[in-house]
Amino acid sequence: MLPFLLGLLLCSDVPVDTTDYAARRARMVREQIEARGVTHPGVLRAMRKVPRHLFVPEDQRPYAYHDFPLPIGYGQTISQPFIVAYMTALVAPEPSHRVLEIGTGSGYQAAVLAELVDTVYTIEIVPELAESAARRLADLGYTRVRVRQGDGYEGWAAHAPFDAIVVTAAAEHIPPPLIDQLKRGGRMVIPVGSPFRTQTLMLVEKDRRGRVTTQSLVPVRFVPFRRGG
Ligand code: SAH
Repeated sequence: MLPFLLGLLLCSDVPVDTTDYAARRARMVREQIEARGVTHPGVLRAMRKVPRHLFVPEDQRPYAYHDFPLPIGYGQTISQPFIVAYMTALVAPEPSHRVLEIGTGSGYQAAVLAELVDTVYTIEIVPELAESAARRLADLGYTRVRVRQGDGYEGWAAHAPFDAIVVTAAAEHIPPPLIDQLKRGGRMVIPVGSPFRTQTLMLVEKDRRGRVTTQSLVPVRFVPFRRGG
């Protein structure tokens, strides 16, 4: 009996099969996301479902479910899984929502949002990233994500107003066009502060009468919000 039990104990330390990505995602959600207080059931479901390893370069795949951001080329990064889940839960996604994301990057945050809302509009300033994310999202069947290359500072007026806006690059200030394009009752989450330093994640809410309030939440580090594109 003892050797058998010992065998079981030892086995539990054997790393999971590297191809068992669903198990890795379940563990990521349990240990990195639920453990830090994200409880939104839809967000947890989406994080368990979206194949994050397919959004990172092949040499980064072994780390896709680890607790940190990863490089995706062109000096950009895919955010840490917890930050993606936290930001998604903050905008209180609903199945009827139309959401704007600024900073498509790999397309991962857009895919997570697409699991929860009706349509995602996402803008990326680096042409190569916009193109590869659009292709990846289409290949994975995310037909309700629209990717556009350009400077997201101006938002996407043709599809405004948005129920929610998620900005994944750090801006020095909240771009006024994004506030204008937020629906009444809508929420925006955006890292604000100097590039290459710690920034503050801000929640911007527009109430039913159009009044805007902001709240500082947690310190974060994002790549800089660029201009021009
Ligand atoms: N949401 C991404 C993470 C992206 S990192 C993901 O899930 O993978 C931030 C991205 O914002 C980078 O790809 C960067 O090129 C882009 N970016 C920076 N400034 C921008 C701007 N003004 N408009 C649109 N995209 C911008």
